[in-house]
Amino acid sequence: MLETLYQEIILDHYRHPRGRGHLEPPKIEHEGANPLCGDEITIELRVEDGRVSAVRFSGQGCSISQASASMLTEAVEGKTLEEVRQLIAQVYAMLKGESEPDPEVMGEIAALAGVRNFPVRVKCASLAWHVLEDALRQVNGSSQ
Ligand code: ZN
Repeated sequence: MLETLYQEIILDHYRHPRGRGHLEPPKIEHEGANPLCGDEITIELRVEDGRVSAVRFSGQGCSISQASASMLTEAVEGKTLEEVRQLIAQVYAMLKGESEPDPEVMGEIAALAGVRNFPVRVKCASLAWHVLEDALRQVNGSSQ
């Protein structure tokens, strides 16, 4: 039952992506790809007062990669940079099977936990989070 629910959540994000689109400058923009599957994700975000005040994604690829990016934009908007970094670490731990997802913290992102038995799919699910992590490196050293 849980597997089915998770698949429905992923398909819903794929068909009705949240946070798909572009931001007006000023913004931080970073892109990444998962050549194994042909997934491409670009993340655009704006950081104000140490918080992610806006975030959008664009790209193409399989349902898991796009659903993960959609979930990401919902999850990180409004969070502090520290909270976002913690969330990224929790997502990696979940996808590696190192920790069970806490529904209170992870929300719909927990639906991605189902991929951890499929190493190729883990790369699909983690792509957007790696792109976000790289994008946040650009925040360090800026006026933020
Ligand atoms: Zn993929």
